[in-house]
Amino acid sequence: MAKLVASTRIIPLDIVDAVETLHAMGFELVDINYASVERMNIDYPSVPNTMRLALLQAVRVGVRPVTVHAPWEDYFLLYIGRGLDHAVDEAKIFLDIAGSYGAEIVVFHGFSSRRIGSYRAEWVNKRFFAELADYAEREDLPVVAVENSSGAKPLNKIEALRKLVSQIDSPKLRACIDTGHAFLNGYSLRAADHAIKPLEPVCIHVHDNHGERDEHLHIGCGSINWLEAPSAVNLSKASYVVLESDCSSNDVVACKGQAIIAANNARSVLKDWLT
Ligand SMILES: [Zn+2]
Repeated sequence: MAKLVASTRIIPLDIVDAVETLHAMGFELVDINYASVERMNIDYPSVPNTMRLALLQAVRVGVRPVTVHAPWEDYFLLYIGRGLDHAVDEAKIFLDIAGSYGAEIVVFHGFSSRRIGSYRAEWVNKRFFAELADYAEREDLPVVAVENSSGAKPLNKIEALRKLVSQIDSPKLRACIDTGHAFLNGYSLRAADHAIKPLEPVCIHVHDNHGERDEHLHIGCGSINWLEAPSAVNLSKASYVVLESDCSSNDVVACKGQAIIAANNARSVLKDWLT
């Protein structure tokens, strides 16, 4: 059974203010999400410290930052140019920062064939995540979770994600299923549940779309059949369900209302998944 987590990206504010707002709204668990940092238009070298400040703020105000979403593929690709070890070292920084503020899971996207070629993508993902998981095991750091992508091959296929995580076979490497990304690639909740079996995902990213674009709509605002949730038994075994939708307005007050409604809808329609 999972606990409900609110992502910082649901409130369109700078990430530190988003943490404080989520706390003021009564959320007890938050996801420190790179999407909030991306919107701030800061340079890449400032990213780790900005995420660290958000984690610090969470600890200060008294919300638990249980999950952290690391930067997207492009960020780590910068380092791959000098060798895979440099990308792994950069990823370790996010594990260290997250672990030092009590986060339990750090979510990463994989590398895609669009960027580094299909043969190399598989090899790079295997080595990158094996080394990261090994480091997390050795240093007792958060779990590394790999997320299914919205379209970039090969990890848009949940079967490819299952294969990657199974092959590395580490207690510190798990899958994170994103419902919106799965739907864009033809997976209903039930199909996603079937495709990841026998692995149990450690987290679920919850958002909706109409099957064409990665809209990050609130639950129930797109075409996903959420009524299938009770039969997605494997997905229900995740530790955290993260509300990862975006607000449809720039008005913070309206967004706070939308976030509360999204959380209530999740508690209702995903009650079989949540504690
Ligand atoms: Zn996601």
